[in-house]
Amino acid sequence: MEALITPSSPSLSLSKKLYSSSFSPLTTSTSPFLFPKPHKYLTQRVHTSKFGNFLDLIPENKQTPIKLDINWLDPSTKARLDVIVIGAGPAGLCLAERVARHGVRVCCIDPDPLSMWPNHYGAWVDELSCLGLDSCFDKTWPMASVHVDDYKTKYLDRPYGRINRKMLKMKLIGGCVSNGVKFHKGKVWKINHQEFESSVVCDDGNEFKASLIVDASGFASSFVEYDKPRNHGYQIAHGILAEVENHPFDLDKMLLMDWRDSHLGNEPDLRVQNSRIPTFLYAMPFDSNLVFLEETSLVSRPVLSYKEIKLRMVARLRHMGIKVKRVIESEKCLIPMGGPLPVIPQPVMGIGGTAGLAHPSTGYMVARTLALAPILADSIVECLGSTRMIRGQPLYHRVWNGLWPIERRLTREYYRFGMETLLKLDLKGTRSFFDAFFDLNPEYWHGFLSSRLSLMELAMLSLSLFGHSSNLSRFDIVTKCPVPLAKMMGNLVVESI
Ligand SMILES: Cc1cc2nc3c(=O)[nH]c(=O)nc-3n(C[C@H](O)[C@H](O)[C@H](O)COP(=O)(O)OP(=O)(O)OC[C@H]3O[C@@H](n4cnc5c(N)ncnc54)[C@H](O)[C@@H]3O)c2cc1C
Repeated sequence: MEALITPSSPSLSLSKKLYSSSFSPLTTSTSPFLFPKPHKYLTQRVHTSKFGNFLDLIPENKQTPIKLDINWLDPSTKARLDVIVIGAGPAGLCLAERVARHGVRVCCIDPDPLSMWPNHYGAWVDELSCLGLDSCFDKTWPMASVHVDDYKTKYLDRPYGRINRKMLKMKLIGGCVSNGVKFHKGKVWKINHQEFESSVVCDDGNEFKASLIVDASGFASSFVEYDKPRNHGYQIAHGILAEVENHPFDLDKMLLMDWRDSHLGNEPDLRVQNSRIPTFLYAMPFDSNLVFLEETSLVSRPVLSYKEIKLRMVARLRHMGIKVKRVIESEKCLIPMGGPLPVIPQPVMGIGGTAGLAHPSTGYMVARTLALAPILADSIVECLGSTRMIRGQPLYHRVWNGLWPIERRLTREYYRFGMETLLKLDLKGTRSFFDAFFDLNPEYWHGFLSSRLSLMELAMLSLSLFGHSSNLSRFDIVTKCPVPLAKMMGNLVVESI
């Protein structure tokens, strides 16, 4: 059976319900974050088979808040604070905990500090184990796989895991509690600055003062300033945690990327679009009936339409014979990638999504933020800890340069170049790229994906990638990369002056 999806069709209006499900996307009209314009595309035809369409299923799970006694800040005491952290996401909590360890007085403000984080996070196991957080995975897979196309699959000998959001949040909040971090339930509306002090005004009318405000309110923040055009690429994805009748995935491997497009054989419009701006399937099989599935556009600019992603996912799951019985949770993923760093320094400090920490070529950020928060915390403690009182401009200078020293800024330029290159590749080019990329010495591809290569190592990686590339990839690199390469070189020069 074939159904024509038009803006007024029942299927679409049902899928629209997903937009307003328990997960709130970054696109609400109140958000200061402008939703990027999607690609135009034609009305699409999709088939509904006996398997039905999982978009019709309403996500069932309502996340229950964390039960923990936290220390609330009493607004009437006008307590003196050293640091206010806006946001209780992974970035905000990790930073608050690390700063407070040294006796610095910290308050974390969030509309609901004890609510469960809405996103599902995955990471390479080594990234969390080197931080002593291996216990924060609820499932790990010894290997990952990549379907380059219908004929070639790569097996990656690097364990991958799904982060147990509840456990990680409990651990970070528990650390905050034991180190004396106070919490306030509210949304920060405004930040005011004076020479040695700043204040935040919350939606409940309360105003709090501190020597330093750290914005950890995520990608949608408007508190951190930029002086260059924010020419992001965007990762967009639709993910579901689903109970299925069966699935074809090996239980001992997570599927990092499936670039096959045979599921679009009967969907000419989708196939043409996919060959220009490809999407892949990411899958974490928990058991034979429970799987997390996410159709993902690695990076696009302007952003690929969310509806297009869902249609491709419907076609893919139907082709794979995956019958979804229940959607337990669904998520809309929209991650701004690349673009310039915020102005360095400036009176508001950033961490996480507000500080340019998302990997410009992959969108991953959690492990990196958890690794960098202690480094930023050390710079803050150096200035505001018991022995030193450095405030105002010297403080802003120290903390921004602590998070983004010149070497880290330069390597970020390279990762941005990676994103600009990916933006230029169609499906064929993307397949050739990953075919060569995952053939690299693991030190290189591990290091690249985890943002831990030096500039010299990145240069070596480029040479090696060129050496491993097919003629098609080399042609792509030579013809499509000169402009991004020239921009990167220009930015490197500007950054290093
Ligand atoms: C759906 C999705 C899936 C992702 N999956 C992965 C993944 O698998 N692996 C990975 O490494 N990265 C992933 N990312 C990227 C990134 O790691 C996450 O976005 C991560 O949550 C960012 O952390 P954060 O602490 O900076 O911000 P957030 O997690 O967005 O937390 C911000 C907090 O600030 C609060 N807040 C917002 N505005 C205000 C305000 N004005 N006042 C007070 N509080 C405020 C919010 O309520 C929220 O609690 C994903 C992103 C998305 C959107």
